Amino acid sequence: MSTVSAYAATSATAPLTKTTIERREPGPHDVAIDIKFAGICHSDIHTVKAEWGVPNYPVVPGHEIAGVVTAVGAEVNKYKVGDHVGVGCMVNSCGVCSSCQAGLEQYCKNGATFTYNSTDKDGTPTYGGYSQAVVVNENFVVRIPDSLPLDKAAPLLCAGITLFSPLRHWKAGQDTRLAVIGLGGLGHMGVKLGAAMGCEVSVLSQSLKKMEDGLRLGASNYYATADPATFKELRSGFDLILNTVSANLDLGQYMGLLDVDGTMVELGIPEHPMEVHAFALAAARRSLSGSNIGGIAETQEMLDFCAEHDVTPEIEVIEADYVNEAYERVLASDVRYRFVIDISSL
Ligand SMILES: [Zn+2]
Ligand SMILES: [Zn+2]
Repeated sequence: MSTVSAYAATSATAPLTKTTIERREPGPHDVAIDIKFAGICHSDIHTVKAEWGVPNYPVVPGHEIAGVVTAVGAEVNKYKVGDHVGVGCMVNSCGVCSSCQAGLEQYCKNGATFTYNSTDKDGTPTYGGYSQAVVVNENFVVRIPDSLPLDKAAPLLCAGITLFSPLRHWKAGQDTRLAVIGLGGLGHMGVKLGAAMGCEVSVLSQSLKKMEDGLRLGASNYYATADPATFKELRSGFDLILNTVSANLDLGQYMGLLDVDGTMVELGIPEHPMEVHAFALAAARRSLSGSNIGGIAETQEMLDFCAEHDVTPEIEVIEADYVNEAYERVLASDVRYRFVIDISSL
């Protein structure tokens, strides 16, 4: 066991504070990683504030982890000391169910082990990336290509794959009229990845406040959803809509923006259920779906794609003791577009 510094939440209302946690000695299939950078994801905030159910405190959040390998188990041959690697939202799964066999570990029928607020196979609680080091089974470690700086690679491990996976699944490409709802941490990756895949990208945002950014990041069009004329003008105008907003929206209104056979994909996961009238679906054989991160092989494919197409998130690097203020700013949508903790400051 080794003791490392970490930032943890001890209740839904207390600020995160500095503490120490134990990391296991690497087993034969484990990779020990010195964490260099950890992204702040809205899920971290939902979890520590008990908005997705009461978590198992203390919670050490962080599932956008980028670091350097410091040791490998005897059976590991994919990674060696010094390699740049990443860890995303999962650190284990059953490996034998049909989902795991299909490379869809995130949909493991026996429940994937998540990077924090989960129980690992050895019965110990998992702690995330707001910490100096982590030990992870090699099958849940991905390689960060050398051309991607570690600070910018971190948010790809959740925000990047969350957008990449549905774009791939719904075969986004040059003929796709893509709309991304919300230009935040997730949405801005949707714009960049969609543009890199050749889609015609439109941003649907509450106001035109971030329009300049949206167009600079690769969108062709930018619309304000606070303006009712937007919904008239864009009626039946999209093939694929990725909803990154984690607050309730009038789904029926957005479904009307899909052309025949179009699909709207829920990525943001708000706290409360949303309603949609069946007519909004039936009227044009539209689909309403959802998607959760991506499998491990697909996460590697996403990192390689980002390296090849020079797609990286817009980030603001912060020191660890700024994390509580950063949370407030995420909630106020006051970040362009992802906070990344410099773990050397911990
Ligand atoms: Zn996340
Ligand atoms: Zn499984």
